[in-house]
Amino acid sequence: MFSQYFVAKKKLYPQQVKGKIRSLKNWLNFLLLSIYIFSPYLRFNRGESAPNQAILIDFHTDVLYFFFIEIWPQEIYYLAGILVLSALLLFFITSLFGRVWCGYACFQTVWTDIFIAVERFWQGDRNSRILLDRKKNWLYYQKKICTHICWIAISLFTGLVFVSYFNDVFVLYQLIINLQLSTSILGWILGIGFATYLMAGFAREHVCTYMCPYARFQSAMFDNNTLIVSYQHKRGEPRQKYHQGDDFANRGHCIDCKQCVVVCPVGIDIRDGLQMQCIACGLCIDACDNIMEKFNLPKGLIRYDTLQNLNTNPDLFSVKKPKFFKPRTWYYLVIISAICTLTIFGLIAKQPIAISILQERNPLYVLLSDGSIRNVYQLSVTNKSHLTQKFFLTASHSDLVELKILNQENNIIELKPQAVSEFKIFLTAKNPPQHTESLVVDLMLSDQKQNNYKTSAVLFLP
Ligand code: SF4
Ligand code: SF4
Repeated sequence: MFSQYFVAKKKLYPQQVKGKIRSLKNWLNFLLLSIYIFSPYLRFNRGESAPNQAILIDFHTDVLYFFFIEIWPQEIYYLAGILVLSALLLFFITSLFGRVWCGYACFQTVWTDIFIAVERFWQGDRNSRILLDRKKNWLYYQKKICTHICWIAISLFTGLVFVSYFNDVFVLYQLIINLQLSTSILGWILGIGFATYLMAGFAREHVCTYMCPYARFQSAMFDNNTLIVSYQHKRGEPRQKYHQGDDFANRGHCIDCKQCVVVCPVGIDIRDGLQMQCIACGLCIDACDNIMEKFNLPKGLIRYDTLQNLNTNPDLFSVKKPKFFKPRTWYYLVIISAICTLTIFGLIAKQPIAISILQERNPLYVLLSDGSIRNVYQLSVTNKSHLTQKFFLTASHSDLVELKILNQENNIIELKPQAVSEFKIFLTAKNPPQHTESLVVDLMLSDQKQNNYKTSAVLFLP
């Protein structure tokens, strides 16, 4: 019924290509995957009270560890700052170099590349895969099964690496060996594994074209000086098939071999101009350069260039250096530097102790037999340091207000490292002032080194 509104998914068979960009992408894939796989093995000594995995989101303590940086749930705004910074960096890089993130570093691109490599290993390059899919013989099923087994193994391994950012990696492997994985960890491994299998194995270019919002709004970050993958119309047209003895002086340099199309992982023809689907992977550049080389023509019929150069550079064979320093670059730099400074300053000035106080409201106050008024509070103190700490709690208005911590002698409290400690405290107004409904009392936690941490409580009076 709805089929008229949707274009059927056309299966793509991207062809392998050799060239500088392909080699760069291979090295980058290797580097990025190594970072992803091996980062959980990095250790950072935080003492006995905290895990020693350098990068860890610990759900037991709800703390995010990144080497010496620790972000507690109360400090989620740092995370917001880091996310805003990452988004701005992405926009900044896009405004200069176009969709390099999509083409070279995005998870979807990297994993799809690996899955295509596996497909190619078992089923051969483009033509063999097309033939195999047409024949559907016994060999077809054999090769497809091998491909899918490898895809599933890679997907499950991806899920396993993912959960090792949330659990100590060595403990995790011990749990696996002893068959003691919890259902939640197993669920995450299977969930991430299934998503990887689906996205890199089947959805592929559809994720970039239909699911990723970034493809839709990237054009807002482009300007005439942004690097894009572009076909040199003036040089390539009129395109013509090559026949023995053709003179390139009287025709365009494009021989319409469609090599740039068959290597494209999203299946577009870059000769039709810049398109939303293009992830700027540059593989069509390698493919076309190889063709140009065969015909002794200058490389760069398809190349990274800016619209400004394409429209104004009269020399069809040279690439003018793009203008990187433009007003937009400075705007981004100023905003990024400001957020960086704020985040770094915030992280440096972070307090190792956080206090919060909550009043018991039922009843709001109690009238004692000697006429004094008592309010009860729940004091939460987070010790973010890695040491056990002792503090003495005092209250302002000591002439009017008496402070008592339940079960703690002399109002001295001991805080366990990397933990939240809860205390019940009583504030009692001995001679409550007349005609006053409430009193703001400052509570001060002090240690022997004269470090002070303050909070305030409202003492309600009848
Ligand atoms: S057109 Fe070229 S740069 Fe764009 S996705 Fe296809 S191969 Fe990559
Ligand atoms: S690879 Fe180059 S020569 Fe071949 S069709 Fe594409 S642009 Fe033309």
